[in-house]
Amino acid sequence: MAWRSSGASNTDLIENLWRNKMITDPRVKAAFLKVDRAQYAPSNPYDDSPKSIGHSATISAPHMHASAVEKLLPFILPSETRPSPRVLDIGSGSGYLTHVMAELVGDKGVVVGVEHITPLRDLGEKNMRKSADGRQFLESDRVKFRVGDGRKGWTEDGEEGEGLWDAIHVGASAKEVHPELLRQLRAPGRMFIPVDDDGEGWSQHIWCVDKDAEGKVERNKLFGVRYVPLTDAPKV
Ligand code: SAH
Repeated sequence: MAWRSSGASNTDLIENLWRNKMITDPRVKAAFLKVDRAQYAPSNPYDDSPKSIGHSATISAPHMHASAVEKLLPFILPSETRPSPRVLDIGSGSGYLTHVMAELVGDKGVVVGVEHITPLRDLGEKNMRKSADGRQFLESDRVKFRVGDGRKGWTEDGEEGEGLWDAIHVGASAKEVHPELLRQLRAPGRMFIPVDDDGEGWSQHIWCVDKDAEGKVERNKLFGVRYVPLTDAPKV
């Protein structure tokens, strides 16, 4: 099912993800339709498969991005209790998912993409500049791309470190649910994170980590995946 969603155009790809129930929420579908994957994937952008973007990184498959957004949705959308959602995208790579989530957070929302490889930080921003929406998000500071070690989360200069993010997406496989990420999750908040079960990268699962309004943490193992690892930055 997951791999059957390839299409001949962006609309085709998203309609196939919808038909195959990889996207089930109309708001998620609308956000994906607004972002042309051709501006982010270097080849065959409408295939439902990952593609290399250099530096040992990949743009994940569309069905993976779809399941991440569907899972994080309640914490990404603005609401009465959460008028300005703050979303952290760790391992932003191509910038594609950062853009899709920026379509959902609303005027007052913020999405920060963190990369530990500077050329990939720059690639995300360059790709986003290809569309009018993307340029507007960058100019209005709805989206920021930063260089840093995502295992430590992200704090802008001058911001308090406590309870910063409504939603955290981790785009590379972690050795553990890093304590600093959990600390930076708001109460309530949700993290979508692939975790390496055996420390060797052979077995990875997505974990959905919820912090409730009282700060109580619940971890749910969702499904098996294959992500590139969350690592130290390569030496230059
Ligand atoms: N979500 C992106 C990229 C996924 S690949 C997309 O779909 O396009 C995983 C990314 O995580 C790579 O770009 C890699 O450089 C980045 N990464 C790996 N370890 C990291 C770390 N410690 N801190 C920040 N980014 C990291």
